[in-house]
Amino acid sequence: MYVIIFVLLSEKHKLDYEMKSRLCYMLLFTAALLICPGIFRNEEARAYTVKNNKVTIYEGETFPMDSIVSDADFLKLRLISSDRSVSTPTKDGALLGLGIGECVVTVSDRKGTRDEIEVKVVSKSDIHMVALTLDDGPGSHAMELMDYFDSRNVKVTFFMIGADIGNYPKSAQRMVDEGHEIGSHTMNHKQLTAIKKDRALREIEEGAKVIEEVAGVPPTVWRPPYGDSTEEQRIAAGMPTVLWNIDTLDWKYKDADRVAREIINGASDGNIILVHEIYKTTVEGIKKALDQLCAKGIRFVTSTTLLTRDGTPVEDLIGQRLFSKKVKKK
Ligand SMILES: [Zn+2]
Repeated sequence: MYVIIFVLLSEKHKLDYEMKSRLCYMLLFTAALLICPGIFRNEEARAYTVKNNKVTIYEGETFPMDSIVSDADFLKLRLISSDRSVSTPTKDGALLGLGIGECVVTVSDRKGTRDEIEVKVVSKSDIHMVALTLDDGPGSHAMELMDYFDSRNVKVTFFMIGADIGNYPKSAQRMVDEGHEIGSHTMNHKQLTAIKKDRALREIEEGAKVIEEVAGVPPTVWRPPYGDSTEEQRIAAGMPTVLWNIDTLDWKYKDADRVAREIINGASDGNIILVHEIYKTTVEGIKKALDQLCAKGIRFVTSTTLLTRDGTPVEDLIGQRLFSKKVKKK
């Protein structure tokens, strides 16, 4: 069709060679615009991707929208709730849980792309907190895990080995930026009750120092390797000694389904669950378990959030061996 237009125009006006070539370029350019709109009209590209389309919020609390959709310019999105008495989008990019129930929040962009997010709002009196604690890292799976935790609005505690943290500085800094808790797992992962007293104290001290240098903040909790420590060591550490009451034995079985089952069965309120972030099977198991547990409204929090939720000051926790935190519900 363009060729016909070109021939007709040039015949009619008896154009010279220069005009003909100009006309030719113009026609080619308009053709390109029509054929490849994506290249010339960037703003038409999809404005977001959905990371999580099932969200559970506690009544009166918010869920950050950037944990639900990524790459979004929130000003360009339209968020419409099917029931504003259950949940409504807020101006600062979050979903607010208003009343117990379920609704659907539709996300759309100017191009007309639409996605539906199922939102469930549950009672605050049912708040159910669990601390997931990840030992022996950082390792090569830390970034993948944090991408996943971000999409579920999950916060965890990483108990890291001082001698290894220097290999993954970006992971360590991201943990801090995204609100995860930085824990020390000592400098070299030695059994502290099996080595000389002063050497053991050095393991604790050096581990905390190196972690602070790399992560940019000091660890707020620590976990002795194999769970073994003396009272003197616990007091010297100067921060809470976090142990666990649910051991997934992920390091032993290296089986994702088993890890998932142990986490699901162990996710009762107040429990501290132990996993090791360095196994691929553990990463898969965590995702399987948390897909289910987060949809149910179980909240994964840092060790310190769990241990201080009844108002206990952090200083009062130092020196004790902390396995879990049960709180009597009214
Ligand atoms: Zn360990």
